[in-house]
Amino acid sequence: MSRINLAIAAVCITTALTTTALTPAAHAQQPPPTALTKVEGTDNVYIFRYMGHQSMFITTPDGVIATDPISERRPVKPYIDAIQSVSKAPIKYVIYSHSHFDHIAGGQPFKDMGATFIAQTNAKARLMALKPEDVVMPDQTVDTQKIIELGGTTLILDYVGRNHSDNMLVMRLPKEKIIFTVDWIPLQAVQFRGMADTYVPDIEESLKKVIAMDWTTLIPGHPGPGGRQIGGREEAPNQLAYLQDLSAAVKKAVSEGKGYDAAEKEIKLPKYESWGGYAAFLPMNIERYYDFWNRGI
Ligand SMILES: [Zn+2]
Repeated sequence: MSRINLAIAAVCITTALTTTALTPAAHAQQPPPTALTKVEGTDNVYIFRYMGHQSMFITTPDGVIATDPISERRPVKPYIDAIQSVSKAPIKYVIYSHSHFDHIAGGQPFKDMGATFIAQTNAKARLMALKPEDVVMPDQTVDTQKIIELGGTTLILDYVGRNHSDNMLVMRLPKEKIIFTVDWIPLQAVQFRGMADTYVPDIEESLKKVIAMDWTTLIPGHPGPGGRQIGGREEAPNQLAYLQDLSAAVKKAVSEGKGYDAAEKEIKLPKYESWGGYAAFLPMNIERYYDFWNRGI
């Protein structure tokens, strides 16, 4: 059962945001391009969804803490409008989950409104090196931990090591027992495609650290099957079990002298058959672990 109780707003901006204008009939069958949802059991924690990406933001009397702008090659205005539909307080912070552009591009209007941008130290180094178009450089960085206190809300930013990138933050609301972390603990899904920028086997150690933290609700960077926007504690051990099962199966195939093609064709993990991306991405996930076990990379 969904723990999200209230769809506050859904703004229809389809024709402005898609290359092909949808017919009214097609449009009726699509979820709205954006949605604002208040997380049940909280007074001030929201999820803003923008097509297939989502971000958490928190309102307080003294200001708003926003996270990933999620506006690569599209206007960030719907996100700002969503925030301002529930709070007139200034947007004080924009915190990047990690350095990948699809989550963090488009933040300049937040900057123009006076927000302070925060990211993990390695994310800033990566962004300074790549200088991606339309990504605001972080003003402040986090090495291992930073605690933000604003208007009665505490938000803890933790770096738990290398996983999906070397600069992922786990953002944790200790009172609400919510974490927001992006791309590496998907809801009932295998890892995306070839696990680009993912550190194997370090990701398994990061998962153990997150499992040891005190939280009950996970907000990921993308909705899961059926549009589900949040998960529970079980998502982390489930993902760890998947990666461990995958790793063991690939290790065995390598030790038996199987090549890439045979491993990708023959390894099946039926326990995870119902997960998102299983058919399309399992062979690519296998390839990532094949490189680890076969060549140590
Ligand atoms: Zn990513």
